[in-house]
Amino acid sequence: MANRLALDDSVQFVRGVGPVRAKHFETLGIRTVSDLVEHYPFRYELLPKSVSIEQLSLGEVVTIVGEVERIRVRGRMRQQAIHALVADGTGECNVRWFQSPYLIDRLHEGLTVRLSGKVDCYNDRASLTNPKLTIIADEQDPFANDIDRHEAVYPACAELSSKYIAKIIASVLDDALEQVGETLPSSLRAKRNLPPRRTAILRKHKPTDINEVSVAHERLAYEEFLLCQLAVQISRHHTKRSQHAQPIVTTKAIDVRIRRRLPFKLTAEQNRAVSEICADLAMPTPMNRLLQADVGAGKTVVAIYATLTAIANRRQVAFLAPTEVLASQHLAKIKGYLSGSQVNVSFLSGSSSASERNIVRQSLLTGECNLIVGTHALLQKGVRFRDLGLVVVDEQQKFGVSQRAALRAKGHAPHTLVLTATPIPRTLAMTVFGDLDVSIMRGLPPGRKPVQTTLCTESTQPKTWEWIRSRLGQGEQAYIVYPLVDESESLPLKAARVESQKLAATTLSGIEVGLLHGKMRAEEKTQALERFRANKTSALVATTVVEVGMDVPNATMMVIQHAERYGLSQLHQLRGRIGRGSKPSHCFLFTDSDTEAANNRLGILCATNDGFRVAEEDLRLRGPGELLGTRQHGLPAFKVADVVNDLEILELARDDAAEILRTDDRLNQPQHRQLRSELYRRYGQVLAFADVA
Ligand code: ADP
Ligand code: MG
Repeated sequence: MANRLALDDSVQFVRGVGPVRAKHFETLGIRTVSDLVEHYPFRYELLPKSVSIEQLSLGEVVTIVGEVERIRVRGRMRQQAIHALVADGTGECNVRWFQSPYLIDRLHEGLTVRLSGKVDCYNDRASLTNPKLTIIADEQDPFANDIDRHEAVYPACAELSSKYIAKIIASVLDDALEQVGETLPSSLRAKRNLPPRRTAILRKHKPTDINEVSVAHERLAYEEFLLCQLAVQISRHHTKRSQHAQPIVTTKAIDVRIRRRLPFKLTAEQNRAVSEICADLAMPTPMNRLLQADVGAGKTVVAIYATLTAIANRRQVAFLAPTEVLASQHLAKIKGYLSGSQVNVSFLSGSSSASERNIVRQSLLTGECNLIVGTHALLQKGVRFRDLGLVVVDEQQKFGVSQRAALRAKGHAPHTLVLTATPIPRTLAMTVFGDLDVSIMRGLPPGRKPVQTTLCTESTQPKTWEWIRSRLGQGEQAYIVYPLVDESESLPLKAARVESQKLAATTLSGIEVGLLHGKMRAEEKTQALERFRANKTSALVATTVVEVGMDVPNATMMVIQHAERYGLSQLHQLRGRIGRGSKPSHCFLFTDSDTEAANNRLGILCATNDGFRVAEEDLRLRGPGELLGTRQHGLPAFKVADVVNDLEILELARDDAAEILRTDDRLNQPQHRQLRSELYRRYGQVLAFADVA
């Protein structure tokens, strides 16, 4: 065929599209014929095969084929209705369309039509209201292919309807599919029992049976995952091979010296993480490791171990935390562990004065400063190191990929350890943090009492306050968390500042109430925190600034106001602030919502303390974007695959990718040629990078 379009041609040249519609297609992410073919339906509508009119029974969803015998337009403007009578030789059926003026010109008497809809009754006769209409041209056999059909429904936009998109796709599909090559080697297809690429694409658009859709989906999802895993594994392999780092060695003597400074014995899980980290550090290539564990699992001390090892090797360390509160807490802890040692520790945050900054910068540049703890301020251009050996990023979910990279760029390929308390399944972690190795610590340090979590609706709140008040009277402490600092006109929510005064005056009168929120000046924050830590204030009214990292073991109670406003993982993080000492802890989820859905969701937290379980639920309910923090999660965009529902396929693809690369790490073998070129098409940048090696 002379004027057949190529897969790379612009959709503009497809008959019936043109430059204006091409622009609209672009808003759907469709530029080329190939994009069009890969624009898949998101659901299918069942169009049952046709029945004769005499067989119609009330309430059934049916398709009929017949001739329009009479047509009338009744009413005017918005009330306008089209009344038609359709007959097929066995009987007659009334048909009415409301608010469909565009049909008036298309319908006329004598036309053969196929109609699908639910049978009702009008004027004592079987009737269809607003049925789906197909006009069948005279020369076509109206009963050809008369079987149950599934009509594809496509993601559409205001300017382009699903129906129009379906028509355009149908017009190019056959020609385009002839040009679609197979990406997967036949051995792999046989091993995983997957249909050819062409068949899968065809079935996705035009299934003859709904079961074919899921087979087609599996095939296409597998392919997307496989390509992604190949890209991830190749680039990781490359990073390991091409970048050289100074090894950091943990000798027996260093290990003993470090452990002597720690106030407790590490748990088996912590020891395992430590040895994985030390093994990485000892390599001549940079470590890139993610340490994942539930909140309160004791990640800090593992990071401090790595820090001290690096310092013992006379290398500099940067320890980054997302908030000033957390950074200063780390500083205090590390200084405590290091008391009496020669190690020179500095601090840098947004509120450091210009002269402080200068001094710190200078000492980093000369190498006099061994360890810098701080916030985002560490990422500024002026901060340079003499010999940065290790970067620790705490609560990595609060930072973007680019910020991690910015810090890493300050050293000559320093080792990097990132900590996160958002527990996600390992396979998902591999996709999201493809460039990282992952260590997981399960469980909590010994002697912890699980936090008991209770849902409190408005009626039970007064009693709860009473109970809290009595415990506060016995020397225990509580966090009271509000979603806002100040009241807002647009949100009907209680806010920290006003409520702290109210609480102090009423419910908690006679009890020392503190206040901590992000709008306070740095020294005010430190003061509030220190007073709480020293148990000078019993109740700390706060915003979610306490979410990350705060560690005050004597705090045994937490009230979370408007709990229904938060994601499960965030609530789990928040309650992780308590249950850190030896006394039993209680978390109260205050809510004024009484919808069953909200309460069932919060019920999950009452039922389990396992952060991994909570995260799985969150993932199921809200998707990976929400769980990992929007935008920054860096998930690759998949057209078909779904990292939550298709996790099993992802695991297979990961294993197969590893298997392929084991024997053919550059995909040079002939059976991998197609895979290789598809990989370039989708992940060109990653691979161009890998090819430098
Ligand atoms: P997270 O993993 O949430 O950052 P932290 O590092 O803040 O947790 O640790 C939580 C608490 O557990 C801290 O009070 C810490 O001192 C304590 N902890 C950590 N490891 C141990 C251990 N091996 N034995 C006893 N307590 C520990
Ligand atoms: Mg922490």
